[in-house]
Amino acid sequence: MVQIGDRFRTGETALAPGEYEYVRHTDSYGCEPTNYEKRVTMSKGERFPPHKSCNRNVVWRLSFY
Ligand SMILES: [Zn+2]
Repeated sequence: MVQIGDRFRTGETALAPGEYEYVRHTDSYGCEPTNYEKRVTMSKGERFPPHKSCNRNVVWRLSFY
């Protein structure tokens, strides 16, 4: 069961389709995504992407289904 606010990392599989928002990079890299990059729309079964600009792993949070 996936709930609003659940967090996922780059490479994990989306268990629910929906809009996800950027939380942070998984390392301490100080890159700041643009507003556009802070949102991603996922289909069920898709893998969470890295931050597009720097290609590093990030944490995503489900904002709504
Ligand atoms: Zn980055």
